[in-house]
Amino acid sequence: MNFPSPKDRGKLDPADPGSQHLIADWNALQRVFIRPEDEGSRQTLVKYMEQIFFGLHDFLNQHVGVTEEISLAELSLAHTDTRINKEPLKKLADVIEDIIQEIAPRAVNVASPYFVGHMTAAIPFFMVHLKAITAALNQNVIKLETSKILSVLEKQVLGKMHRMIYKREQAFYDAHVQNIETSLGVFTTGGTTANITALWVARNLALSPTGPFASVEQDGIFAALKAHGLERMVVLVSSRGHFSLKKAGGILGIGNQNIISIDEDENRSIDLKKLEQTIQAFKIEGKTRILAIVGIAGATETGIIDPLPQLADICRDHNIHFHVDAAWGGPVLLSEKYAPLLEGIQRADSVTIDCHKQFYMPMTAGMVYFKDPEALDQIVYHARYINRKGSVDLGIKTLEGSREANSLILDSALKIMGSRGYGLMIDHGIETARGFARKIDARPLFQLVTRPCLNILTYRVVPLFIRKQLETADKMEQCRINARLDRINTNLQRTQREAGKSFVSRTRLRVNPKDSQDVVVLRSVIMNPYTTPEILDEILDEQEALLADMIIPD
Ligand SMILES: *Cc1c(COP(=O)(O)O)cnc(C)c1O
Repeated sequence: MNFPSPKDRGKLDPADPGSQHLIADWNALQRVFIRPEDEGSRQTLVKYMEQIFFGLHDFLNQHVGVTEEISLAELSLAHTDTRINKEPLKKLADVIEDIIQEIAPRAVNVASPYFVGHMTAAIPFFMVHLKAITAALNQNVIKLETSKILSVLEKQVLGKMHRMIYKREQAFYDAHVQNIETSLGVFTTGGTTANITALWVARNLALSPTGPFASVEQDGIFAALKAHGLERMVVLVSSRGHFSLKKAGGILGIGNQNIISIDEDENRSIDLKKLEQTIQAFKIEGKTRILAIVGIAGATETGIIDPLPQLADICRDHNIHFHVDAAWGGPVLLSEKYAPLLEGIQRADSVTIDCHKQFYMPMTAGMVYFKDPEALDQIVYHARYINRKGSVDLGIKTLEGSREANSLILDSALKIMGSRGYGLMIDHGIETARGFARKIDARPLFQLVTRPCLNILTYRVVPLFIRKQLETADKMEQCRINARLDRINTNLQRTQREAGKSFVSRTRLRVNPKDSQDVVVLRSVIMNPYTTPEILDEILDEQEALLADMIIPD
């Protein structure tokens, strides 16, 4: 795994007197377009691609800490030139070499087993290959004319995922898997656009045609509200709702302040009593339509799962669209052991699942599924040149336009891993996180704030002497102490990140759901199968050592 030192580089730097001059003429362009420029370039290229395809993980682990010791300010200063070079500067092989030498070491090594702070982490070795193949095929699944079998395959994979969620009978899937009239779901660019798509459909379903009013798509939100005698539409979700729901509120003309947060209960999931009270209050008021209730299956900050069966009952009783945001938690359905945690998801009208999270796919891909195979008719769009009426083109029912064939990656990954393979990864994450929680409980310096329901937990540093102060303090004093703890935890997280060996993230939460004040907590997401209990101990040891050295600001 040896990369040539800068001295051995090809003669490509135009400032270098030995360098050949690269010119953008028609001949050069044709060569660049179809193949490496010459045999030397080709060999360099093959060598790098081999290293990237077969040694990427080793390479990253050797060469990249979580972050290298170079400040953002320095990096920014080195990237201020906004002129485009007129003539070519480098050949492909040299560009790749630059990426390996200059960019990769300064990117974040999300593949490190010490990187346990975010939902972006290591991906299996084969994913890079599958992504490269998808790029090489360059199919556009917006329409059949640019994708053929990939459109058919996408429908099949959508069927597999729908079945994983809804477990409908064989006849149902026989009827819909390749049905060109119906859609079991769609691939999206991620969880954000999946959530937007789900609420888009829900909004249109809630504002059905009446009198001269045809549809909200055609007539707009003002006409829709008027026709329905409404002044406002709202979405109800726990205070842990992902901020993509707010974006949906803005985009769909609902207003993001109408994505209403319902407090958490003592289990840190949505408070069902408060939810019922809110629904009743809107009923009495009479001018507001609840367009959806969102249940979270794996909250981004805490991993908590809302009580899906009870939410399903409430939605059924009040005839409200039930959306489950399982962007994070969806793949837990593949774990025989932990799938029961998601009981009730099969009653959702729509479900978001991300591919680039716990399906371990490369950036970016998401999906949204609908119980009713006709639900997506709410957002059907046609164009004259493609996606004509009655067409089988997948692009007629998607928020996105052109799209890559992500179903090929997911389908291949499922073939390679099996649902059991994915299940093992899920089990490992959950069980390692639970073990991590016990370690935190056992160390007097730390306080576990949210216990892992899945593979996410939060905790904070509370030194013993401060803990004693907190116990006897009045409200005012508690505020002051917590502000101090916030500074300690913020500093600790930052110092550890900058030290570059390991990474946990931080967010703000209530220590007790009944508290009135958020505090800074450290957040850990365990999804890398190489993250072991020993590594987690090292991370806590490092935090304790950093803390001992830290000058704690008052
Ligand atoms: C990550 C996440 C999203 C957003 O997904 P993106 O892929 O980042 O757009 C939405 N909801 C939840 C619960 C998430 O964890």
